[in-house]
Amino acid sequence: MNYEQYLSDRVLNLKPSGIRRFFDLAAQMDDILSLSVGEPDFDTPLPIIQAGIRSLEKGETHYTANAGRIKLREALAIHLEKLHHVQYKPEGEIFLTVGGSEGLYITAAALLNPGDEIIIPTPCFVSYQGVSILADAKIVEVATTMENNFDLDPKEIEKAITPKTKAILLGFPSNPTGAVASREMLLEVARLAEEHDLIVISDEMYDQIIYDGEHVCFSTLPNMWERTILLGGFSKDFAMTGWRIGYACGPKPLIEKMLFIHQYIIMCVNTTAQDAAIEALQTGQEYVYEMVEEYKRRRDYIFKRLTDMGLPMVKPSGAFYAFPNISHTGLTSMEFCEQFLKEEKVAIVPGDAFGEAGKGFVRICYANSMENITEAMNRLERFMQKFN
Ligand code: PLP
Repeated sequence: MNYEQYLSDRVLNLKPSGIRRFFDLAAQMDDILSLSVGEPDFDTPLPIIQAGIRSLEKGETHYTANAGRIKLREALAIHLEKLHHVQYKPEGEIFLTVGGSEGLYITAAALLNPGDEIIIPTPCFVSYQGVSILADAKIVEVATTMENNFDLDPKEIEKAITPKTKAILLGFPSNPTGAVASREMLLEVARLAEEHDLIVISDEMYDQIIYDGEHVCFSTLPNMWERTILLGGFSKDFAMTGWRIGYACGPKPLIEKMLFIHQYIIMCVNTTAQDAAIEALQTGQEYVYEMVEEYKRRRDYIFKRLTDMGLPMVKPSGAFYAFPNISHTGLTSMEFCEQFLKEEKVAIVPGDAFGEAGKGFVRICYANSMENITEAMNRLERFMQKFN
């Protein structure tokens, strides 16, 4: 049978994520040291795990409200107010999603019509492209560059705006570059959004993983609350990737419609994860500070090792990725990662998996033990000798 004829064009247009292809390659080999997966190496802090267990033991094994437990939405509203001084009402302006991933999918599905253009600064998290393709939207990539510290370039964004532009999708702190967008540039983007009447989707998944400078919550900028969908989650900040819980916040008329989709495809986020997330917001903050402190120590170490090896890079200000440039080796990103994997058994990710602007770069995730990072850097140093 020719199965392709049964598949929608939308699905046929999806390309496998560069990360996934690379994982598949690494999975065929033994004893791989992997600095490729973008998730905390820490287990979820114990009190949060215990809250999940207690929830199950109490028989909390049923559906909750579609938007998630009101107690969790209330706790989240308090958390966001404290952290970013941004106000969202628990009723109507917040709902819980199955990780930030579902939030991204639903936002794209709710906002984008076929042919709408969505501007995405790249390199960016791989799903941004995927969810936009699934909404039949046209992706307009705008490069952020190493020369500009991977900060936003409002002039380039302005050039990319056409009458068909519907939205801008921002992802800061950035996976994969580790950049934290500056207030100055965000204000410029806000001005453009207002002038051209655009929606801004702001994925702030790493909002607490900041080492230098400040993270600006986009919806706190002048006149931006009314045109921003704020996406976030528990996966990275609270080391809860496997629980699959995140959130979407925004103006009620948009959130209401997004919740419609959520109702049909998910119903509600799993109840155990919701109860664990309440605990995370109530008592988990000190663990976040501890983990961020540890990531910072690793960031400093990996930055020094990579620059000492002669790999040009921007010092990451947030998230937990290093994004060095490898173009002077004469290899493409994929060739570099493949050779490094085969010769030194270390998995890192080709930068162009994150968009055109990632060509010539590789992403190294340092949410890993110091021991593994040190070993990976020793092997990379050995690997690099033939190029220097
Ligand atoms: N947004 C960014 C920038 C990410 O890096 C990720 C995961 O890597 C996500 C969203 C998705 O997170 P979740 O695991 O909560 O679905």
